Amino acid sequence: MTKTNKRSKTWLQAHRKDVLPILVGSALGITLGSILALSQAPYTADIGPRQLTLIERVERRREIRMLRNAFAFPSLPKIVTHLSPLLTVIPDRFISGSVGVRHGAPFPAFGQATYPVPNAPNWGAMRTPQEWNRTFREMSQEDFVSFPAYDLDVLTTPLTLLLKHRNAHIDEITTKLFYSTRHFSAYDLDAGEYTGRHPGVDLKLARETPIASIGGGRVNAVQRTENLGTYVVIEHRIGDDTYYAVYAHLDAASVQTGEDVRAGQTIGTVGLTGNTSGPHLHLQIDRGQPGEREHIPYAPSSIPAEEEAERHTVHPIEFIEEHRG
Ligand SMILES: [Zn+2]
Repeated sequence: MTKTNKRSKTWLQAHRKDVLPILVGSALGITLGSILALSQAPYTADIGPRQLTLIERVERRREIRMLRNAFAFPSLPKIVTHLSPLLTVIPDRFISGSVGVRHGAPFPAFGQATYPVPNAPNWGAMRTPQEWNRTFREMSQEDFVSFPAYDLDVLTTPLTLLLKHRNAHIDEITTKLFYSTRHFSAYDLDAGEYTGRHPGVDLKLARETPIASIGGGRVNAVQRTENLGTYVVIEHRIGDDTYYAVYAHLDAASVQTGEDVRAGQTIGTVGLTGNTSGPHLHLQIDRGQPGEREHIPYAPSSIPAEEEAERHTVHPIEFIEEHRG
């Protein structure tokens, strides 16, 4: 045995220089061969690693989709609004398309509230459809009166009673027609509040009347639904409270989501979009709810109790008057 060992050792020792390159070469050959073979085999080396990449890609796409849903793509300004804490790390080139968005700017102060229109057409003095149906531009200064007071006594006085002495009640008739639907009233010119489920007020205005933001804030959404037509939602912050002013049935919006607006700035014009019998502004001011991103206007399915309504929305005219300063 010792002899054989000795002999083999001697042989290996003797042929080490010849054998080593062969062994190393074979090892390298097998490895390279395996790599080549694996890389060409359709289900192992090639697809395997690519599958991982594909899964990663799919995962990534899924994440992007989730992000898109969460932030309601494709409106980039919306993402900008919701990701505002991250804005400092997003290079400007990624959001260069979002006109009007002030990146990282502090939320605009509410300031002093203003009515959405400075005055109202003197509807009570108009007698013919030709007069009623004029657009804002077709009316002249004499056709307007100052913004009518929201007086429930007047608003619930039967119109038929006022029409009996029409010339003596022009102001009251104008008020009634202007506030064509009261806060949570039925669709009836004589109805009082909490007789219906209409949140906010309907203001009868001439078509194309410019509508102003009631205060400083940021455009939360510009949307279009079957019911509200084209509408703009503006977020307002007063102290720790958040409000969303909704302006609906617009002809066109002149602001974009994410844009900052100041009190009195025109945000759109009165139209006939959505579920409406005539040109008017649907004005609604909702309370912000925790965790809200894009505000969905409050729309109760039945007449709410006053306390229930108060949790979701405020009386828009009282709200404006309270914050007019
Ligand atoms: Zn309305």
